[in-house]
Amino acid sequence: MLSTIDDATLMKVASSLGEDEAVKLIDHLKNLDEITDDEIANKTGIRLNSVRKILYKLYDHSLVSLRRTRDPKTGWFIFHWKLQPDQLEGFILSQKRRVLEKLSVRLEYETNHDFYYCDTTGCRRVTFEEAVEAVFHCNACGKPLAHSDNGKMITVLEGKVGQLRKELGEQ
Ligand SMILES: [Zn+2]
Repeated sequence: MLSTIDDATLMKVASSLGEDEAVKLIDHLKNLDEITDDEIANKTGIRLNSVRKILYKLYDHSLVSLRRTRDPKTGWFIFHWKLQPDQLEGFILSQKRRVLEKLSVRLEYETNHDFYYCDTTGCRRVTFEEAVEAVFHCNACGKPLAHSDNGKMITVLEGKVGQLRKELGEQ
């Protein structure tokens, strides 16, 4: 049914939710029409609490739909879940846009600043302005600060930003 959604895509969605078991759950859901949370727990071996937690996260992003019925015997609600495959693409796109935005801000920061570093593990780089204020000595360890070339980092960031822009069709 969801032949357009490959496993790599599912992995991306699942990992962006921060839930390891989300992969298994989505993988199970993609071959079914509707399923209850109890059935998912039974079939996948994921604990019912985790199943519900993941389902509500997916629901927050409109990646699953929810239909409620009432059990005629007990009178309790039964929740029927269904994957919304057409929402997955949109979700991935918005994730990519968020990453692109973060990386662009970082790239701009790296490009617009000169950095200085004491070359001590655990100490952080400082900007030129901060270095001047500290008279070119590290505030943490006291060692002299030397100019720190961030050209490599800028190249890496530019590569990632370019790749994402291409994937998002912005280039
Ligand atoms: Zn230092």
